[in-house]
Amino acid sequence: MPTPLDKIKPQVRAIRAYTLAPLEAPVKINQNENPFEMPEEIKRAVLARLEDRPWSRYPTFTPTALQEKLAAHANWRADGVLAGNGSNELIQALLTVTVGAGTRVLIPEPTFTLYRQLVSVLGGEVIPVPLTEALQFNIPKLAGKVAMTKADLLILCSPNNPTGCTISERDLRLLLRQSEGLVVVDQAYVEFGGEDFAPLLPEFPNLVILRTFSKAMAMAGLRVGYLLAAPEIALEINKAKLPYNLNFFSIAAAEAALEKVHLLRPLIDRIVAERERLFAELQRIPGLSPVRSEANFFVVHTRIAPGELFEALHARGILIRDVSSYPMLAGYVRLSVGAPEENDRLIEALREIFDGYRDENQY
Ligand code: PMP
Repeated sequence: MPTPLDKIKPQVRAIRAYTLAPLEAPVKINQNENPFEMPEEIKRAVLARLEDRPWSRYPTFTPTALQEKLAAHANWRADGVLAGNGSNELIQALLTVTVGAGTRVLIPEPTFTLYRQLVSVLGGEVIPVPLTEALQFNIPKLAGKVAMTKADLLILCSPNNPTGCTISERDLRLLLRQSEGLVVVDQAYVEFGGEDFAPLLPEFPNLVILRTFSKAMAMAGLRVGYLLAAPEIALEINKAKLPYNLNFFSIAAAEAALEKVHLLRPLIDRIVAERERLFAELQRIPGLSPVRSEANFFVVHTRIAPGELFEALHARGILIRDVSSYPMLAGYVRLSVGAPEENDRLIEALREIFDGYRDENQY
């Protein structure tokens, strides 16, 4: 019997949705968010703008003022900037205008799973390129694949979610030169480490950079991301964006955050300092091996099964990400860097859990 489900594309029915269990906990370190709230001064500036504006009217069709502020912030031209409802929307728009049946997309894995998800939905072919055993980008292999497969797209995430590894400018230049296709670099976590690749844009018309306000900029709830590319590429990607994708609250908040970005920088510095402290503490816990990261999170190899560790921490009010189903990460969990007191609580809980584990295993 034919059913309405037959009308759904087979490649869509073959995959599972991108989801996250709606769990809550006092210490929430499962989504790489900024643990510090947006500074009050920025919030007040945003709210003042909202009060003066009619809510019955659409936002501006093209948020020109925001685009100009983003361009100044990223040191790139405003006609090469697109703002989106989170960088997720821009990843989707970019892939919508580039991927169809037969499109080949190189993706180092493990990485952010949305790339594979969207390429699959759009009917393209994902060619995975595993990270090295040390969970770093495998540059010789990537360079070889770029040349051999004549891939239409290469999607790199630097710093990479979930492993925190980065690509160097030298290696990126090599891939940009060798690639006949677009090279997309998702820099969602660039404020925490790794090189800023925006200065390469004038030289490489095949480079597309993605950024977000959801992490360092402390605005995950407001959904703002942006894309930097050659103006002629930005013009095409813009065709797949929905009209009025950014509501005026988000536009106002992004503008205010950019005007007062100096208030956010000390918070970013604290997160980076906490990352280093947390890393050193975790290294001292027998049974845990954290992997160095340039982002605001890291993966940690655990001697206790990841699912079990997830539960043990959740029972202690700490919510982490079990990444053990990702390629190459069977024995790993991912921890986001929290505020200092949250990290203290995490360290204490882990010491307790792994102490108990050692005792149990002595008998
Ligand atoms: N890119 C990467 C690498 C991410 O980790 C995330 C969020 N987890 C995003 C993009 C999407 O972020 P947003 O849509 O909130 O900008």
